[in-house]
Amino acid sequence: MADSKVRVDLETVKRFDRPGPRYTSYPTAVEFTEEVGEAAYRERLAMANATPDAPLSLYAHLPFCEHRCLFCGCHVVITPHMPVAEKYLEYLKRELDLLAERLPDRRSVVQMHWGGGTPTYYSPAQIRDLFGHVTEHFDFVPGAEIAVEVDPRVTRRDHLETMAELGFNRLSLGVQDLTAAVQAAITRNQTFDETEKLVRQAREVGFTEGINIDLIYGLPLQEPVSFGRNLDQVIGLRPDRVAVYSFAYVPWIRGHQKKLDPESLPSAEVKLELYLTAMERFLDAGYQPIGMDHFALPDDELAVAANQGRLYRNFMGYTVMPASDMIGVGISGIGEVQHGFFQNEKKLSTYYKAIDDGRLPVARGYLLDPDDRIRQYVIQQIMCNFRIGKEDVARRFGVDFDEYLASSLARLEDVREAGFVVLDDEGLRVTPQGRVFVRNVCMAFDRYLMEKEAARDQERPVFSRTV
Ligand code: SF4
Repeated sequence: MADSKVRVDLETVKRFDRPGPRYTSYPTAVEFTEEVGEAAYRERLAMANATPDAPLSLYAHLPFCEHRCLFCGCHVVITPHMPVAEKYLEYLKRELDLLAERLPDRRSVVQMHWGGGTPTYYSPAQIRDLFGHVTEHFDFVPGAEIAVEVDPRVTRRDHLETMAELGFNRLSLGVQDLTAAVQAAITRNQTFDETEKLVRQAREVGFTEGINIDLIYGLPLQEPVSFGRNLDQVIGLRPDRVAVYSFAYVPWIRGHQKKLDPESLPSAEVKLELYLTAMERFLDAGYQPIGMDHFALPDDELAVAANQGRLYRNFMGYTVMPASDMIGVGISGIGEVQHGFFQNEKKLSTYYKAIDDGRLPVARGYLLDPDDRIRQYVIQQIMCNFRIGKEDVARRFGVDFDEYLASSLARLEDVREAGFVVLDDEGLRVTPQGRVFVRNVCMAFDRYLMEKEAARDQERPVFSRTV
């Protein structure tokens, strides 16, 4: 992995930086439809229940935050009023009850993730209560990955103690950027001391591995020198993993981003430099690149899995613990059950109404057809392991890679020419240079994108830019 000197020129960036999905799922959430709802979900849950020995993944969405950060792309509810959040907790528990009824035989969990919002908006007692409710219905297999997102501004030592005691063993800290001017522009003021203290306390209470820090490049007023200083500070904390996400500027989807001054956003050239600076610093500090935007210490399980080609990606991020079915609870939560995606209601009112009516609060979904499943696998392998083998595809799906994916392979010509991918008898490999543009590579395999392009249905961008 000696690719610390990846260099990409501006012309290349301009050529390839275009709107594109992040491929946390394939097909992407824009294909979800209201035609796939609760009835389909119940059917797929019944199918899932028929394989009692297979463990589940569980995602719980805890959407509350006290203040809004202007860059935020998550589905959040901003309120300082705890009773609003208390009510939600009760409904979340009722949703878990409804699901458990549908999964009487399928109760073991290999991975759980609490995301938000800010899960530690809740008190330690509330966290204990919700966790207890999960374990009333589900059992964690030994070594299960139990993760939670924490905001260093509101997470206290007693939160950490409680979560460690309950069995949480992965902690993801939102940092984004440590420069005061950038923080002011995105209305997220968080000192380095707060972050440092939380990492220290987390280790003291037992989070000895799996500490992750999230950073974002492409935020207003970011520039390489100060961002480089941020990176040095973060490296000094020696997190096990770091995620360096590209800022998704989508004001047409996230209305609050309209408050950001578009003039303050870094140019494509600067944005790339920010990314390359991060890549260089983390590689020089001994981290290994994971997928497109993650880095991990060599002994971290993500790095070990990446080296062995057994890394997976789902809505919760990269994982070494794939489950055949993933349940999502809470507003906007997405699950993937028996080759169907199901997304919950996004509004509290409709979410509550469904549960009051005794319905699973599914608003939309998508059932994958055989072609989707082949492309889903190909895209996932490229995103996670930067390669896809022809024999592997033939063995799993009984199709000839070159023939079946001929139209996609033809669409790879520009990324091949640019040196981003190598195609040979074994399959496709993304080069170190190509990692920056891995989303572009995946886009060639995206049937929906092909159809939309053919229909010239691209007048208004749906996705953030790929770099
Ligand atoms: S704290 Fe996190 S989830 Fe809440 S608004 Fe800020 S970025 Fe979004």
